[in-house]
Amino acid sequence: AVGSDIRTYFEGTWHEGDALVMRAADHGAWLGSSVFDGARYAHGVAPDLLAHCQRVNASARALMLTPTIGAEEMVEIVREGLALYPRDAALYIRPMYWGIDGGAGAIAPAPDRTGFCVCLEAIPLPAGESTTTLTTTRFRRPVLESAVVNAKAGCLYPNNARMLREAQTKGFGNALVADAMGNVAESATANVFIVKDGAVSTPIPNGTFLAGITRARHIANLAADGVEVRERVIGFDEVREADEVFLTGNMSKITAVTAFDERTYEIGPVARRARELYWDWALSSR
Ligand code: PMP
Repeated sequence: AVGSDIRTYFEGTWHEGDALVMRAADHGAWLGSSVFDGARYAHGVAPDLLAHCQRVNASARALMLTPTIGAEEMVEIVREGLALYPRDAALYIRPMYWGIDGGAGAIAPAPDRTGFCVCLEAIPLPAGESTTTLTTTRFRRPVLESAVVNAKAGCLYPNNARMLREAQTKGFGNALVADAMGNVAESATANVFIVKDGAVSTPIPNGTFLAGITRARHIANLAADGVEVRERVIGFDEVREADEVFLTGNMSKITAVTAFDERTYEIGPVARRARELYWDWALSSR
């Protein structure tokens, strides 16, 4: 991160640069008790910022950490930071909590000493329509009994990283990931939608994957536009047979899938419409 354009909120104020926030003995550094959320600022708006701040607090609780900043207050802190940038900036907004005490003889983090920071990082929004390609991966989403999948926790992401690495090694942009049952869950970094004969579907949340805030926003936007999105169990063959496939997540909002292994797709009308609806909705709050 050194050298990137970063600002950090830590211990009550905004700092220029990538602030030093953790110590060698911090539970978060040693035993991985860290959670984060990712929101975006672009075109002068930070869509669903409150929902992202609420989710990072819920993630903290799932790791037995006590969140120390209310979601509304967190929104105010982020807005103070955003005001330090020109209106045409494109930023990644990352609030984080981690355990400070714990460890040695006490594997659980001490809940009452929780670190908090927000990182603002200049990352451009993909210009125009973003696209990617998918392949399968042997790595799966864990279940709640084997990992804290009810949190957006840093400790889950090495699993996503190896999925992504495996896909990239095969020459693809991302991995289409199965849940524990072998059904489609999500990609390594975003949620997935398919379209077949005009019917739009997305995997039904089953507690194994992150049912994203952007996913929910697209479902609501499409519903308001008269398009029902069915949440259901989806098999890998259905993705191969689909007319359109797209991914949703805070980073790019919507990414059209142009290939799944040897199967190729055009950027379809539902993905195009969802993208338009998303930005119409987001910019209307400006
Ligand atoms: N799944 C995973 C594994 C992710 O990392 C993300 C990005 N946070 C998403 C889905 C999409 O979630 P959201 O729309 O809330 O960003």
